[in-house]
Amino acid sequence: MDIDTLVLHALDRRVEAYGAIVEPIVMSTTFERSQGGCYEHGYSYSRIGNPNRSALEAVLAKLEGGEVAFAFTSGSAAVMALFQALNPGDHIIAPRDCYHGTQSILEEIFLRWGLSSSFVDMTNLAEVNGAIKSSTRMIWIETPSNPRLRIYDMPKLIGLAKDISAISVVDNTIATPVLQRPFLYGCDYVLHSTTKAIAGHSDVLGGAVVARAQNDWTKRIRQIQTKGGAVLSPFDSWLTLRGIRTLPLRVRAASKTALDVAQFLEKHSAVQMCHYPGLVSHPQHSLASKIMSEGYGSLLSFEVVGGQEKAFQVTERLKLFTRATSLGGVESLVEHRASIEPSHREISAKLLRISIGLESSRDLISDLDHALRA
Ligand code: PLP
Repeated sequence: MDIDTLVLHALDRRVEAYGAIVEPIVMSTTFERSQGGCYEHGYSYSRIGNPNRSALEAVLAKLEGGEVAFAFTSGSAAVMALFQALNPGDHIIAPRDCYHGTQSILEEIFLRWGLSSSFVDMTNLAEVNGAIKSSTRMIWIETPSNPRLRIYDMPKLIGLAKDISAISVVDNTIATPVLQRPFLYGCDYVLHSTTKAIAGHSDVLGGAVVARAQNDWTKRIRQIQTKGGAVLSPFDSWLTLRGIRTLPLRVRAASKTALDVAQFLEKHSAVQMCHYPGLVSHPQHSLASKIMSEGYGSLLSFEVVGGQEKAFQVTERLKLFTRATSLGGVESLVEHRASIEPSHREISAKLLRISIGLESSRDLISDLDHALRA
């Protein structure tokens, strides 16, 4: 089935009550046992399982082409679960240019629990190879990267993880399963901050781990999810599922606009550099075209001519882009990343990251032109 059909028909069950075509929200925290002591409908207590969460997990697994998914209260809680499933002494290799929160989780929380990590330039496979230790158990891949939109060679990195019997994880938040399917390359786990394009309306926080195959490790993730309790609520699961119904349409439209905007910015005299994998000038454009389809995503960043002052001026003059963090929502956002990321991440003070929403590309380009010309 195509993803356009899957987002609407991935759930093969019909809702019996009242002939409703939308799932009811089941708020009950506990479920009745039958006389014999068993739970006829498969649910006992909402932390262990809830119909809305199960529905979302089933759909997410199908969209990515995996066997099972686990929905968490945020993308960060899902990231935490994957690291909690490792053992003290294990080592993780991750890209230097990744979501800064993932780096903080590893360095500020898990280092004390015995997990070590190396952050490398993942565009350089020799550097990745050089970081491998006998204790390396996980290769974390986030492509396109954040905020510099680099593209990492997912097939080769997954192959490398297999060669050393390490687990491969792809954070597919920015691309979404509409544009990129990591399981096609044999990756073990896909991570999502569903807060972003999957839910898509900037009104619900969530995260998910999707597994290619069920095994002892997925049992561990389920244990961390249901015993640790960072489970997505029934209402948040329902909202996320509602967002998913328009995911392909939103992602394709925003990606098309993002390419128009990037092509405009690249030629603008007030822009020093534009980072977008859809641009032919992007250093990994041909790799992006190989591993992504139907577009290159809604996120891009650019560096202005001048310094931080100029970057701030641009954000102040923009009318259609709201100054706010996050990405993948229906409205366009702009953010001066050096202001929010730790200084060791060495983000250029001239860099602005923008998330393209569903406004018309003509209006967004004219807004940017006006702000840049000032
Ligand atoms: N992964 C990526 C690529 C992100 O951009 C984010 C958040 O910005 C996360 C994970 C964490 O997700 P959340 O904010 O839902 O905890």
